[in-house]
Amino acid sequence: MITPDEPHWQSELAGSYTDPRALLARLGIPAEGLAAPGTASPFPMRVPESFVRRMRAGDPLDPLLLQVLHSPLEDLATPGYGPDPVGDLPARATASALHKYHGRILVIATGACAIHCRYCFRRHFPYGDFALRQSGLEDVLAYLARHPDIDEVILSGGDPLSLSDERLEPLLEALGALPQIRRLRLHTRLPVVLGQRVTAGLLNLLRRVEAAVVVVIHANHPNELDDGIRAHLRRLGDAAALVLNQSVLLRRVNDNTDALAELSQRLFDAGVMPYYLHQLDPVAGAAHFEVDDATALDIMEGLRACLPGYLVPRLVRERPGAPFKIPLEGAMRD
Ligand code: SF4
Repeated sequence: MITPDEPHWQSELAGSYTDPRALLARLGIPAEGLAAPGTASPFPMRVPESFVRRMRAGDPLDPLLLQVLHSPLEDLATPGYGPDPVGDLPARATASALHKYHGRILVIATGACAIHCRYCFRRHFPYGDFALRQSGLEDVLAYLARHPDIDEVILSGGDPLSLSDERLEPLLEALGALPQIRRLRLHTRLPVVLGQRVTAGLLNLLRRVEAAVVVVIHANHPNELDDGIRAHLRRLGDAAALVLNQSVLLRRVNDNTDALAELSQRLFDAGVMPYYLHQLDPVAGAAHFEVDDATALDIMEGLRACLPGYLVPRLVRERPGAPFKIPLEGAMRD
């Protein structure tokens, strides 16, 4: 059941900052020297006020601001960086689904996101060709019928929780009711970006899914998880079988042990377990976020020294065509 306050998350999304100058003015940061993308950018800035409230006013190096503010470095071509860094396009199984790994498929539920992360590996993804429509769902169901070994469906995007509950419901019901599907996974940044998305209606919907629901959120820095967001995440945990977090290792954002250790601590406080720490996918426009492997491994050593093992995420890299995500620890130093 949807309660009357629930459309609030949609109106806040609709009011997101899309003009970098307005965002910088809101934070009291001079816009001089901070180049803004043209309004015709295919990946324009987008960030809701809820996320902006967690940025430090007056600080152009704020780790949340750096994740969303266009940098002129994005326009430089970097060898090895391209539009499809993880081989999504060759993995297309149906109009809206990717099949990369044994036993699971990923469905592009929507192309929309609540926030545009400048390092996003799908920032050049042709969502217009992929995003799920009714006929697309039928194709996915037919594909699953032909592949009974698939027991997990991942709803991704874009961000599947940017769909309204009315649009999510038939999707979750149809996929979750299939006897072969044991787990239904949602990859979403929305509960972190805009905690109000964790509505009573969404929680009821997740509880009704017949398959076990796994939610994988995406937070990169402890400042993203203030008291309010942690409360929303705990509510989410009450409706899901498991809530995990994946982060991306990002230069100047979270490339130090202290930030990532505090992130793990806050995740646990919110009932969320650290899962993956991804090395940056080499997507065109994001090279300035890269952290070299030696530094990444040093950070991991620092995490192991100050956290219990269950709070240390796995440092991995995705390679196009590989049958699983490649762990970096062990592979580099042994
Ligand atoms: S929310 Fe996820 S899919 Fe959307 S821009 Fe950020 S990283 Fe990419």
